[in-house]
Parts: sequence; structure tokens; C-alpha cells
Amino acid sequence: MNFLDTSRQVTVLGAGMVGVSCALALQAKGWQVTLVDKRGPGEETSAGNAGVLSRSSLLPFNRPGLWQTLPRMLLKPGPSLQVRPSALAHWRFMWRFLWHARRQSFEATTVALDGLIQLSAQTHKTWLAQTAQQHRLRENGWLWLFQNEAAWAGSAFSREVLQEFSVATAVLRGAEIQSLEPHLSSQFQHALWIQDAASVDNPAEVVKAYADRFLKLGGVFRHSDVRALQQQPQGWQWQDASGAPHWTPNLVLAMGPWSESLLQASQLPSQFKAHMAFERGYHRHFKPVGGVHLQRPVYDTAGAYVLSPMVNAQGEPVLRMTTGVELAGRDAAPNTAQLEAAENAVRRAISLKEAVAGSDWMGSRPTTPDSRPVIGEMPQCPGLWLAFGHQHIGFSTGPGTGVLLAELMAGESTSINSAPFSPMRFS
Ligand SMILES: Cc1cc2nc3c(=O)[nH]c(=O)nc-3n(C[C@H](O)[C@H](O)[C@H](O)COP(=O)(O)OP(=O)(O)OC[C@H]3O[C@@H](n4cnc5c(N)ncnc54)[C@H](O)[C@@H]3O)c2cc1C
Repeated sequence: MNFLDTSRQVTVLGAGMVGVSCALALQAKGWQVTLVDKRGPGEETSAGNAGVLSRSSLLPFNRPGLWQTLPRMLLKPGPSLQVRPSALAHWRFMWRFLWHARRQSFEATTVALDGLIQLSAQTHKTWLAQTAQQHRLRENGWLWLFQNEAAWAGSAFSREVLQEFSVATAVLRGAEIQSLEPHLSSQFQHALWIQDAASVDNPAEVVKAYADRFLKLGGVFRHSDVRALQQQPQGWQWQDASGAPHWTPNLVLAMGPWSESLLQASQLPSQFKAHMAFERGYHRHFKPVGGVHLQRPVYDTAGAYVLSPMVNAQGEPVLRMTTGVELAGRDAAPNTAQLEAAENAVRRAISLKEAVAGSDWMGSRPTTPDSRPVIGEMPQCPGLWLAFGHQHIGFSTGPGTGVLLAELMAGESTSINSAPFSPMRFS
């Protein structure tokens, strides 16, 4: 690249799994990339998740039948969904989210997400090898657990869709479950073993390893709290907390749950509004004792938690319990009711000692009304590219997002259909 040629310079805001993936994929195409975050890489939502990479995640929460089940869920809130008063500010999101439970929209979303998930799975494998992190990847699937016949029957629709997409699964009954996971109690009558799935044992370390590779290959990382964006005659200006301006010819906004509020604060000349909301979730760690452990993540459909075998920052094995959805304002105070309920359910499923002190964590799954991330150039704002809104699956779909975004920015034909992710749909 010519030293004075700025056309291939880009700044990526946000160093979660999505931003780091965009930075790596753009760098691979010859861009000179600066990655900006107010924290270190992978220290927010991308750190605390369940680490599941599964083709079954093509199923969004808003699906046909939601209109029928929702009144019951709202009248008798359970561990899978809690709605807090602060979520009411997101009434536009809620209305649109329900609208996208229509069959037509659901089908478009499942096809789109399946493409992104598969592209991401290949890319994760390549990058895990390039960063010598393959040992973190387990390719032995994950288990959905059902306590009784009624719960199993209730999953028929999901199982049919997985079959339509040829997602490899196996049905386990009674003792077959313990032969796969010997430490689970016998309370589960049925299980669906999603075999087209993998998981990692420390999501934060994976993001950090990808970010380290980006730096080794010449990328630049900058600590800054980004407060506003401004369009310039040639390119973009972003302002940090001290008010200092920074210029860049091209900008990628990948700040996960903080992305849309930055756009709102910046008052840009665009009709774009994703109406994103925050599906908050919590985690808590338990030290496995007496040899009690799991081989793969398990999802207890009644307790609405995922329990994943992980390795903590000190390299010790832990079981990470992540909770269902709490619809609330992103910055509202944490409410640990869901964590306590999930812990009670976990203790019926597996024998555990005390939780690890200080391990509680909260994060926000950034969700758009159609459950598809926004990937592409912002309408009426040339040079400003968007990559956010990855709801429950941003850890797994970050790499595919990076690849797709880099192809779009290079004006190339894309590995998967980009239209379902286009920001134009919210303009
Ligand atoms: C409980 C739970 C379980 C989950 N389980 C899974 C799972 O099993 N598999 C899966 O694929 N996904 C899972 N997810 C979802 C996944 O974690 C998210 O979709 C994903 O991490 C989003 O990544 P991101 O890079 O968009 O956001 P983030 O990781 O949040 O990154 C955004 C970055 O922006 C930075 N930032 C914010 N504001 C500023 C600012 N003003 N200036 C500069 N930088 C800023 C932040 O510091 C952060 O580093 C789960 C989520 C939760 C909450």
C-alpha cells in the first residue's frame, strides 16, 4: 500500500468477538486497521457467555407460536424470561420482535443465521489453529435436557426445524443420558444431543488470542472511550471522553450492546434505527469437586440455564452456569433472582459445592427485532459500517460477521447472502 493512500485505512470501534473478528478479517484483505475499545479485547459480553458454537442456534426466540405462549410467560414469569419495568422503554422493539415471529420472517431468519453460523464455524476453526488455541475447542456437541414427556413434546417444532436443516442430532432416553454425561442426575427423561455443535472452554481467552494475532500482524490497538461520531467531507471523526477528535476514512461500529446508543448520541443524517433491546443474562461459577464434571455444555430446558465446563483465568476447571433472558434496560441494576432460581435447578441436576465467591457476572445480549445482526454500510452514511446485534450467538457468529463485512467493504461477491443482514431493513 502507498504510504499516503488512506483509502484502505479503517478504525473498528469495539473489541468484543465481533469487533476483533472484523479487524482480523479486514487485515487479511490488506486493510490497515486500528481497533478501539475502552477496555481490553474480549472483556465484556464476549467474555461471560456459555461458549457454545452450534448450528441449533439458527432457531431465534421469536418463532411461530410465540403469540400463544407469551401471555402465559408474562403472567407466570419463569426462569427462561423475566421482564423488568425498565424494559418498557423498549416497547417498539417488543412489538417488532413479536411481529417477526411470523412464519415468513422466521424462515428468512433461520436460513440467514444458518449461513452465518456455518461460515463462522469454519472461520473459528482456521483462527483457532492459527492462534494455537485448538485445545480450547470441543467438538462433541451439546445436550438439551427435558424432565418429562410434555416438555419433550413441547420441543417438537424446534426438532422439526433442525431436521429440515439437516442438523445432526441424536435422541437419548433415561439411562442413555447418564452414559453420555455420568454426573447428571436421573431426573431427565429425554435429551436431544445436538451433534452439529462445538464449544470452547474460555471465551475471553479466545477473543484475546485473536486480538493478539491481529497485533502481531501489525494491527494497532487503542484504549479510548468513544463518545460521538461525526461525518466529515472525507471520512469520519470520532470523539473520545476528553473531547479529542480522531479522524478515519472508514469506520466500523462493533460495540455490541453499546452500538445503537452511540449512533443516537451522534445524531447522524440517517433514517437507520434498529430499535435494539437487551436480553440480559448472568453467569456464576462452581468448582467441580469429587470428580464431578461435564464433557460438554448442557441446557436444562425447564431450569432455563446452560451449564458449561470451562477453565477459569487461573487455568482451573469450573462449571459456568448461564441464565435465561431478563428483558431490562442495559444499565439497570442487576437483579440476581434468575441466578438464584437457576442455581436451585442446577443443584437438582448435578452435585455441586458452593459457588465460587465473586464469580457472578451480568451481560446484555444485543438483540434486533428480527433476531438477525446488522452487517453492512449505514444508509446515508458512506464509510460507516455496522456490525452489531448478535443476540444469543455473537460469540459463535463473530468470525463469519468479520468475513462478510470485509467482503462487503472490498466490494466483492460475498460468501453468504448479505441481504438479510443489511442495515437497509431498519431504514
Ligand atoms: C448469559 C449469556 C450467554 C451467552 N451464551 C452464548 C453462547 O453460548 N454462544 C454465543 O455465540 N453467544 C452467546 N452469548 C451472546 C454473545 O456473548 C454476544 O452476542 C457477543 O458477545 C456480542 O459480541 P460483541 O463483540 O458484539 O459485543 P461485546 O463483546 O460486548 O463487545 C463490545 C465492545 O465494545 C466496547 N465498548 C462499549 N462502549 C464503548 C465505548 N464508549 N468506547 C469504546 N469501546 C466501547 C466494550 O468495552 C466491548 O469490548 C451469550 C450472552 C450472554 C449474556
